[in-house]
Amino acid sequence: MRDIWRPHFAHLIVFQLLLAAVSLAQSKPAADLIITNAKIWTVDKSLPTAQAVAVLGERIVAVGSNKDVDAWRGTRTHVIDAGRKLLLPGFNDAHVHFVSGGMQLTNVQLNDATTPQEFARRIGERVKTTPKGEWILGGSWDETKWNPPDMPTKELIDALTPDTPVFVSRYDGHMGLANSVALRLAGITSKTPDPPGGTVVRDAQGNPTGALKDAATDYIDKVIPPLSHDQRLKVVNQALAYAASVGVTSVQHMVADYEDIAVYAELLRRGELTTRIYAAPLITHVEDQAKLGIDRGFGGPYLRIGALKAFADGSLGSGTAYFYEPFLNQGNNRGLLSDEMHPISLMRDRYMKADAAGLQICTHAIGDEGISTILDLYSDVIKAHGEADRRFRIEHAQHMAAKDFERFAQLHVIASVQPYHAIDDGRFAESHIGHDRASRTYAFRTFLDHGVRLAFGTDWEVAPLDPMLSVYAAVTRATLDGKNPDGWFPEQKLTVAETVEAYTMGSAYAEFQENEKGSITTGKLADMVLLGDDIFAMAPARIRDVHVLKTFVGGRMVFDASAAAEGKSQKWMDHKRILSKP
Ligand SMILES: [Zn+2]
Repeated sequence: MRDIWRPHFAHLIVFQLLLAAVSLAQSKPAADLIITNAKIWTVDKSLPTAQAVAVLGERIVAVGSNKDVDAWRGTRTHVIDAGRKLLLPGFNDAHVHFVSGGMQLTNVQLNDATTPQEFARRIGERVKTTPKGEWILGGSWDETKWNPPDMPTKELIDALTPDTPVFVSRYDGHMGLANSVALRLAGITSKTPDPPGGTVVRDAQGNPTGALKDAATDYIDKVIPPLSHDQRLKVVNQALAYAASVGVTSVQHMVADYEDIAVYAELLRRGELTTRIYAAPLITHVEDQAKLGIDRGFGGPYLRIGALKAFADGSLGSGTAYFYEPFLNQGNNRGLLSDEMHPISLMRDRYMKADAAGLQICTHAIGDEGISTILDLYSDVIKAHGEADRRFRIEHAQHMAAKDFERFAQLHVIASVQPYHAIDDGRFAESHIGHDRASRTYAFRTFLDHGVRLAFGTDWEVAPLDPMLSVYAAVTRATLDGKNPDGWFPEQKLTVAETVEAYTMGSAYAEFQENEKGSITTGKLADMVLLGDDIFAMAPARIRDVHVLKTFVGGRMVFDASAAAEGKSQKWMDHKRILSKP
């Protein structure tokens, strides 16, 4: 009995030793994903460049050389050879209107219709796929591309749209064309008066032509039904797919409606949210979030709330940004404070309420006096409630008074800026405000010199979402009209490294998430983008043509250019062309 037992006992010891050895080897589990043979720009100063990255679950577990990271390879590890392409942290767009952006993707596109016949043909085509009674919207038509450049009238499209209401906008957003169905729904007739600040364009007999200017477009806007839940879901899904295709892994949705947040929450529950979202409803709703006891950055890695968006003034192009001195050639006009600022104490009260509740404040301010007034109010809040890590933001921060850069830094206010607006507005800014004020316009370099933190974004749908266009804009400052190939106020140009940092870590900091994302660092969420070309090594003028090969969110591949069907990538190119406003 003993003799038989002994060998068994010995076997058992050997087996147990073996088991112990195996479990020791497995104490470091294998990675789910390894991206190897890449040029990695980490945006992490402790290890700026690397070759490979390993991901376990949704987080990065190793960054380093191919050899170092290979130690994480197991039998079930998915390995991607990046072929020496550039891998960056995913882009975080600090200022988008995600649902309007998604709508823009599906609305009829008229911007590159170069004849009125083509304009009409595209609307006629759209009627065929539009459910009865649903509106045809969007457009961005530009009659200056037509010969002769006559304004369109409803007669151009009425016969093609007998039962479908149409309201398509001019590219500048200051005019729209309604067809007869839309005019009837809005009750617009020859007797309808021009509203203050708007014009109903009329023919020689006094009948409306369908063209409506500025405030007159409100007549139509009032009768366009809001999106249904299902329509909103569809629009958000389109926006998510598009964001993935251009390497945007996080967005900060300014002026989010509650209905938008409900859609995000539904997609999150289904595991279908592929872009991380920080949603900031309008500050007029401050009571709601304060009542709930939700504070800044509340939520999980995919969906957060706890910020509020406020408006100080208008915009440069429309002459409503609020300045100390008048616009040039506009009489005494120096812009307007928004209705949220009438009186200014109304805004101060809301700021105090928001700050007492721990909510983050993001304020749209464009003109120098508008910005200065908001800095005063931010300073009042700090005086009243004491120093804290609040990360007040000014959205746009376009035209700075010389005295305010220092104050911006002292109050630790984040400049949430959109480089694409610089190459767009740069075409006409000097004619509106003169050389001196223009020299402190989109002054990204001056902000950095003063130690102000930048967060980059686009303001999509107002400007294109594609980060390559914004990187191009910040690095070249080459205005869209081609008149400043060496840069408009070139001393304000940023390097590619500074631009990428503002678009990743800068935006992450602006939403209190710099420890979770914004760089390719061990422990952080595995949000990354693989680019087709090395934007650090190429001529800056070519950066705008770079495309995305793969996008990862939490280690999951949410876009793969090689898998995208031929038709899909063609569509993507179309968007890029249309949205880049040549
Ligand atoms: Zn905006």
